[in-house]
Amino acid sequence: MEEKTIQIAGSITVDELATALGLSVTELIGTLFKNGIVATINQRLDFETAQIIIDELGLENVKLERKNTSTKTSDFHRELSDKAVTRPPVVAVMGHVDHGKTTLLDTLLHKKTVDDEAGGITQHISAYQLKHNDRLITFLDTPGHEAFAAIRQHGAMLTDIVVIVVAADDGVKPQTVEAINFAKSANAKIIVAINKIDREGADVNRTMADLSQHGLQPEEWGGDIVMVPISAKMNQNLDQLLDMILLTADIEELKADVNIPAEGLVIESHMEVGKGSVVNVLVTGGELKTGKFIVAGNTYAKIRTMLDWQGKPKGKAAPSTPVTITGFKELPSFGDKFIEVKDEKTARKMALLNAQAAANESASANVTSGDLLRMMNVADNTKTFNVIIKGDVLGSVTSVVDSLKMIDTKGEITLNIVSTGVGDINENDVYMAAGDNTVVYGFNVSVPVNINKMAARDGVPVRTYKVIYELLDDAKHEMENLLDAEIIEEDKGELKVLGVFRTEKTAIIAGGEVLTGDVKPGYLARVVRNKKYLGETEVTSVQKEKMDVNVLVAGETGGLAMSTKSKIDLQVGDRLKFFTRESRKKSL
Ligand code: GDP
Repeated sequence: MEEKTIQIAGSITVDELATALGLSVTELIGTLFKNGIVATINQRLDFETAQIIIDELGLENVKLERKNTSTKTSDFHRELSDKAVTRPPVVAVMGHVDHGKTTLLDTLLHKKTVDDEAGGITQHISAYQLKHNDRLITFLDTPGHEAFAAIRQHGAMLTDIVVIVVAADDGVKPQTVEAINFAKSANAKIIVAINKIDREGADVNRTMADLSQHGLQPEEWGGDIVMVPISAKMNQNLDQLLDMILLTADIEELKADVNIPAEGLVIESHMEVGKGSVVNVLVTGGELKTGKFIVAGNTYAKIRTMLDWQGKPKGKAAPSTPVTITGFKELPSFGDKFIEVKDEKTARKMALLNAQAAANESASANVTSGDLLRMMNVADNTKTFNVIIKGDVLGSVTSVVDSLKMIDTKGEITLNIVSTGVGDINENDVYMAAGDNTVVYGFNVSVPVNINKMAARDGVPVRTYKVIYELLDDAKHEMENLLDAEIIEEDKGELKVLGVFRTEKTAIIAGGEVLTGDVKPGYLARVVRNKKYLGETEVTSVQKEKMDVNVLVAGETGGLAMSTKSKIDLQVGDRLKFFTRESRKKSL
């Protein structure tokens, strides 16, 4: 049979799917009907539903593909012209928590930020520039905790060089490995900073061996990864590290065109009273100037003000320069590509096109696979955890959402993000959450007193956090509470019945020999005759030589009193298979 591929951008109508499959609409509607769905010709089906229908029809030659209609970053990796000029390297510092990323950036920038961070974690991605040997290096201050994996992954895309900080007294840790993987997936060059060499217990060689176990071979040992032993705190060897960054940049011949319309990426955005949208961007090509129009995602700006990372006004920004701009109509999203256009009309039109493309992509399907499964009566035992997320800036909202999605719910819980937004928790959030077991989470935002009262009245849980992993812990806990308890049974032993002294409706007294394991009061027993299950009993007491005992072990004979729910005609020769049963809260 001829193979056929159907591309679906978000969702597909019944009509379109029928045409693509070469079926009549009636035939397709018939199949849907058989599966309990009453569909009309214009009904939109999501990707999963379409897949289930195709499986149902047994169309093995048809392959469905998700089509990406986004125009956001499609034209990002352009060919450089021969007029391209050298640009500063963009460097991200990554590594395990507490290995010294913040200290390294601080010492490098002579800037003290460690103390005022909640939980000691850098919360927002931002960027800095510094000069070494009269050349600029751009540093992305990527957040440190694993919960920010999402942001870091975006961060890595902008990055030419990843400096992986590994504490010499601690070695390679999970987030070190994560950083290595990110750097590799982003095609960035890796330089390792082996930190805290001033510490007692620091072992550079062992750390290098540890790193080579994880695929990073030090140059000293014939590999291709530059590793610089440093002390971020004592400012030791930092010049050497910067030398190595510039050397790597030279080898990579990092260049950009400047005679093209400016382009780059949004790395942070938030609202500020009096200023409106405040957006940090990193220019990757062209030159950004105040007064110009740029489009990012579904919004655009006439750049009103532009500041460098130290807050000084800047008229134009060359490639690899991070700047803070104002003038966006609405907040663009973290990771959005921006591009300069010639006038407001074009800007408005492009923003609109981008919005349409995005809407198309997530065109709300009328029938989702969840509906379909439910209608097909396929057991759908998953429970739903509803959340509303509010954050101080878009970047943190994105991080919280991405991190929540990364919680492995083992397929038992569906995360339903009811809404997200920037700003304090408000009436609307509480209103939306009411009556639906929805938790409202705030990250770095506050809850006005009247809103708190309203939430208490409506029984809506509103929780605010300043440290993301505490928020995630809470969410995980909430999800665990939704899980049905798990029944755990453990086999204990077996007894052969040698005598039956009394069998009543709900009680049995019998004697026998323990063949394996043991029996104790409180154990449950399955009564088995010739491999046939007769019923269940609970051991209420155990006797040995007519004395109550706590246990009978293999080889011993004794008597048992048992209770039953319904009468069991126990006979000599039957087996009692002992076990315990515990209902345990499931964890994720
Ligand atoms: P991050 O979580 O990776 O950003 O780590 P921090 O920069 O916050 O550092 C964690 C702790 O290690 C702090 O108490 C720092 O003072 C300390 N630290 C960082 N670098 C060094 C170093 O080179 N030597 C010593 N002795 N301590 C360091």
